[in-house]
Formats: sequence, structure tokens, C-alpha cells
Amino acid sequence: MTTEQPDSPGEIARRVVRPEVQALTAYAVATAEGMIKLDAMENPFPLPPELRARLGARLAEVAVNRYPDAGGGAVKALLRSQLGLADSEGLILGNGSDELIQIITSAVARPGSVMLSPGPTFVMYRMNATYAGMRYVDVPLGRDFGLDVPAMLEAIARERPALVFVAYPNNPTGTLYPAEAVDKVIRAAPGLVVVDEAYSAFSSDSFLPHVARYPNLLVLRTVSKVGLAGIRLGYAVAARAWTDELEKVRQPYNLNALTQTAALTILPERALLEDQAATLRAERSRLESRLAGLPGFTVHPTQANFVLVRVPDAPRLFEGLKSRGILVKNLHGWHPLLANCLRITVGSPADNDAVIAALGAL
Ligand SMILES: *Cc1c(COP(=O)(O)O)cnc(C)c1O
Repeated sequence: MTTEQPDSPGEIARRVVRPEVQALTAYAVATAEGMIKLDAMENPFPLPPELRARLGARLAEVAVNRYPDAGGGAVKALLRSQLGLADSEGLILGNGSDELIQIITSAVARPGSVMLSPGPTFVMYRMNATYAGMRYVDVPLGRDFGLDVPAMLEAIARERPALVFVAYPNNPTGTLYPAEAVDKVIRAAPGLVVVDEAYSAFSSDSFLPHVARYPNLLVLRTVSKVGLAGIRLGYAVAARAWTDELEKVRQPYNLNALTQTAALTILPERALLEDQAATLRAERSRLESRLAGLPGFTVHPTQANFVLVRVPDAPRLFEGLKSRGILVKNLHGWHPLLANCLRITVGSPADNDAVIAALGAL
């Protein structure tokens, strides 16, 4: 019998959990109870009552005592027909595209291998590199958040990245890089290039029709930004040689039965989803021009459902909006290129009026 005090959970965790994980901060989600929520690129429109009723009826029929369809076969068939995929193209589904980022990363990661992205960009790329033990290389964007092609090509030649992530359009800048620039990156990369099209519904261009042209391109999509963030469904399209490997890393039942049924009920309503996206694109133009009219504001061109603005004092305006019940994203301090930047999700017309009025008053 020993009389020594046993180690505390914290002491054991500090000894056992990898130091790079201990150094991370868990993805922070702000509480937004009762606020106008313009921080997370959600679609502001609820489903119409008739569709909600139909969804409720179909969800009630789901056999929750059974495991879901492990491969999401019916959802895949629907997406294949909606996207017009060729048989040679592989399709894999994820519990949000976040899970696909994790699947892709864990499939290619080896000790010391490199993930490379132009930055600032979506933070989950770097987080997943850390989880998987990859080294993350950030290639700073150029002027006006454009892709610095010479710097990218030089970094690709030097680092030989196993994985390159290009968000197209980029989050948090909204920039849609020229397709020729992304083409050069894909051609130069020795490994897989993920073109993350989370915002494709709001963007004028896509690499999805060109997947067959490249042996190393994977296009990542999600339904989150078009009104279905709550169901957690992402998908990726690449040559079957890629998706066959990724399927081995996917957890067998990653898409739950309720998600599959919700997707099969809502995704066929293409006119509804497209109308909402069109409304948001029009609201985006209105928000951009109103924000550009405010003194000291610089609005960056965006092809996503958010606007990045550089303001005179981002922390002060962020707090001022918050005290008026409006939540946006304060990017000040995230990356040297984002000093005094706020990211404002395009909301409903009333939400956008509120944020414009509040910023004007502040
Ligand atoms: C929002 C976002 C995602 C995450 O999408 P989920 O499908 O909700 O996990 C992926 N990539 C980018 C660039 C995003 O902005």
C-alpha cells in the first residue's frame, strides 16, 4: 500500500496528451441566444411550413433502432444525379465537410509530411494538420487577399506538400481566386489538391466540372451554407482512385439516419434553395455597397455569403454591435493580414438593415 496521493486527472492528461494538442484551443463557438447571428455563414431563412411538415412526417418514420445505411446510398444517388457526375467520378459523404477534411488528412498524413494552404484561410485545415501530425505551411496571400502564385509555386517546390487546401472562394476573405491561378497550383502540386467549395452557391465559378481533367483534384462541398447547417452533410468528388482510398478511413455510419432522410426530403427542393441563394446574393450586393459608404470602411470583393470589411477599430465595433444584439466575427488578431477586419455573414434583409444601421450609428 502506498500513501502517496494519486496523480490528478490534469497531471495524467498533461503527461499523456500530445503537446501539440495541449497547445490547441478548441474551436470556439460564440453563444448567440436571442441575437441577430451573422457570424457563422448560416442561411437565415427557415424552411417553409409545408416542407417542415413533410420533413417531420418522414423523420417520424425513420427506424432509429437500426443502424443507418452505411454508405448513404440513396443520398449519393440523389447527389450524383443533381451534380451530373460521370461514373468514373467518385463521391464520398461526410458528417459535414469538416469530417471530410479530417478523413482526407488522416488518409495522407505521415510523420513530418506537409499540408499547405494560402492564408489566412479556414482554420480547420491547420487544426486537422495538427491532429494528424502533419506540418502546416501557410503561404501568405498577396495584395487584396489575392493568391500569390509565384510564392505558392515556390512553396510547393520547396515543401512537396502531400496535401494542398484551396478554399474557393476563400473563407474568411470571400476572395474567388482566378481559375488560372488555381489551375497552376493543381498542376504544380505533387500530392492531392482539395478545392473547398463550401460557398459554391454564391460563387460564379467551380472546379467540379473539371475534376476529370486533373489526376490530383478533389472538390469539397457542403450543404451547410445553403440552409442545412444543422443536418451536417458534406461531400467530395474526385477520381475513384481517391474516393476508394478515403472510404477506408471513413467511419462506417458517419451519416446518421435522420440526416440521410432530411437530405432526401430537402435537397430535391432545388428551386427553393436556389431562390434563397439568389436572394442572399442580391442582399450581398446591397450590404457591400452600404458598408463601402461608411467612413473608413474597406469592403473586399466577395463571392461568398459573407463580407470581409476592414474598419477603423474592429474590436470596438465588434463590441458595439454585440451590445446592440448583433453577432459578427471579429478577425482582428487572427492573422497579420486581418488586422481590424470583421466578417459579416449576409443575413435576411431585416438582419442586414440592422447591421448597416448599427454600424452607421457606431
Ligand atoms: C463552413 C466551411 C466548411 C465547413 O462546412 P461543414 O460542412 O459545415 O463542416 C468547410 N470549408 C470552408 C471553407 C468553410 O467556410
